[in-house]
Amino acid sequence: MDATAIEAAVAAAHAAGKAARGGENASYIPCLASVPPDLFGVAAMTVDGRYWSRGDDGYAFAIESISKVFTLALALETHGVDAVREKIGASATGMPFNSVMALELHGDRPLSPLVNAGAIAAASLAPGADAESRWASILAMQGKFAGHPVPLSDEVNASEQGTNFHNRAIAWLLYDRGYCYCDPMEAVDIYTRQCSTLVTCRDLAVMGATLAAGGVNPVTGERVVAREHVPPILAEMMMEGLYEASGEWAYTVGLPGKSGVGGGLVAVAPGRLAIAAFAPPLDAAGNSVAGQVAVKTVARELGLNLFAV
Ligand code: GLN
Repeated sequence: MDATAIEAAVAAAHAAGKAARGGENASYIPCLASVPPDLFGVAAMTVDGRYWSRGDDGYAFAIESISKVFTLALALETHGVDAVREKIGASATGMPFNSVMALELHGDRPLSPLVNAGAIAAASLAPGADAESRWASILAMQGKFAGHPVPLSDEVNASEQGTNFHNRAIAWLLYDRGYCYCDPMEAVDIYTRQCSTLVTCRDLAVMGATLAAGGVNPVTGERVVAREHVPPILAEMMMEGLYEASGEWAYTVGLPGKSGVGGGLVAVAPGRLAIAAFAPPLDAAGNSVAGQVAVKTVARELGLNLFAV
């Protein structure tokens, strides 16, 4: 890919994202409300590891729901494509990420590993004999995608563990119908920890570029997931990566993406590059307002829409 074009696209995305207005920090997780709302970064990394960025690309923020992608990758590596589809599902819910109604409508089957219910189920599928070894395997997977060990924020984790009652309720519903594959409170504990690690915009670009490169981290050269596990991951991201806004995102951007309520967003152009952005204020669905503008701008400037002929 042409370096000058990517450089220009990232610069345009920075200008567009800076001008974006509206949204609010997540506040249902108390410590996320106090992150400075004017932080903003955008970055891109190609499948051969070349990197461009503007703004706050080194600020470490809570990964939140973006972690669901890497725990899904771990579930696929451990159990295979068919088992993950059977045990969790592979469709959009069309509802908010923590919807109980979505569960009720489908016999408590989570449908997607990228909503809270499916992500708790995915965490319960992580390999290991006990909670600590399951957690270690999830954290290790995040680190392989990022290319370095990813730290857990004790502050974010404490803030979430003390307020995650809704997720605990979801886990009991899953368990009741056989969709939680370890003790449900253990699954929520691990899931909450996986959401509480800290990444930067640069990390997200590397993590996305690993998917864009077919599962090989372009910085470390390590194969992180099997090539055949990348299409199902990207399919899930396209269907549910931005929750109930995923259809609008596919319609306007045409790239698989994943957001988190910490303000992070990553999108993947397979075989080409990843685009990452970070800005804490969120829209009603829980997606970064300026992050969406920035990622969308890079995708449009570079003509990356997967559905464009
Ligand atoms: N930890 C958050 C939760 O469980 C993650 C949600 C998100 O980023 N959409 O609610």
